[in-house]
Amino acid sequence: MSHCHGLGCPSTTDLVDAHFIAQAFPRQIRKRSDGANTTVSERRFTRRLQHGLFDDDILCSSCDAFLGREYDEPAFKLINTLRVIDLARPTFEIPNVDCDLLCAYVLSVLWRCSISKKFELSNIDLCGYTNPVRAALWGAVPLSDLRAYRLLLQRYYPHPGVDKFYSLPIRVGFEVQGTAWHGYILPLVGFRFLAIIDPRPLPAQYDPFVLNGSTVLRGSISNFPQTFEAEQARSVLAFHGKEP
Ligand SMILES: [Zn+2]
Repeated sequence: MSHCHGLGCPSTTDLVDAHFIAQAFPRQIRKRSDGANTTVSERRFTRRLQHGLFDDDILCSSCDAFLGREYDEPAFKLINTLRVIDLARPTFEIPNVDCDLLCAYVLSVLWRCSISKKFELSNIDLCGYTNPVRAALWGAVPLSDLRAYRLLLQRYYPHPGVDKFYSLPIRVGFEVQGTAWHGYILPLVGFRFLAIIDPRPLPAQYDPFVLNGSTVLRGSISNFPQTFEAEQARSVLAFHGKEP
């Protein structure tokens, strides 16, 4: 029997259409452009959904509303205020930003994906951290206890369409100083979140860019066409016989 995955939630009956990415993002994209959104997943599958991919088998209405209130809505507002980033320099720094809110929001997206059985999300997992992440999202343990999780942010250099594009988290293996790391990229309306799920400490030069526990948002500019996700998007579109 289906049951809600919220912390300590006994609900089995009123499961709702729980969206993985806050619906406000696709709504905003639709307002700025004409036509439906395209959701691209790594599993070479494209579908058009007005408000993004959802699962009707993971959360009850009150737990879905809790995540919306705590993370989706405030993160959407915060991310919109970050558009002032000066793109003339290769790195940026904005003081007085609640970076932990961004950390919690991205983690809540990954968590929702990890508990879903949808095939589009089958390669998103939290490597054994699913339960501690749930406890952190519901406030039972501090987010800072999840030491394996680090979030970094990049802004895409202006390029047609990058501000009107988002994707479900894309699994990446990336190399830092000759070692392979496990993480996810979340492209979101012009921003590029890089979530690392790996217990090893990052090399010290990354410290200023780790958002967890910080109130200064530091990041760098990335050129979308040269990214891993652009390559993925091109291959998905080619597979479906569409021009990028
Ligand atoms: Zn619930």
